[in-house]
Amino acid sequence: MAALKYSRQRASIKEYLMRTHNHPTADDVYMDVKEVFPNISLGTVYRNLNLLAELGEVTKITTPNGADRFDGRTDLHYHVICRDCGNVFDLELPKEHSEEITYLADHHFEGKVESHTTMFYGYCPDCLKRKNIKE
Ligand code: ZN
Ligand code: MN
Repeated sequence: MAALKYSRQRASIKEYLMRTHNHPTADDVYMDVKEVFPNISLGTVYRNLNLLAELGEVTKITTPNGADRFDGRTDLHYHVICRDCGNVFDLELPKEHSEEITYLADHHFEGKVESHTTMFYGYCPDCLKRKNIKE
């Protein structure tokens, strides 16, 4: 029974990540999943998130100054972190550009470069608007 309960919790966590697009933290996921499983602990949510990431069913996004974020998308796309609000946004780059980044890195490296992960930093549209008003 225990295994079944845990797999239902994990399914609920994955389902939440599939329908949200704002790259929630483990805390955000916990707040949502608690509605369905009131006795679930933050530790269990965190373990399940990491397991899902290891299985390749979700993407774990490590941020330099904040908590890890989680993404229901596993297809190739990039992320921009807003320096003001700290939110993480999707960025789509044409496939040929992302392939070129790997190609360039490989070209300039004596060994072999096969892939890359890149985080972009800047300001989200809302924060940029606010800044323009201030400046
Ligand atoms: Zn922002
Ligand atoms: Mn994403």
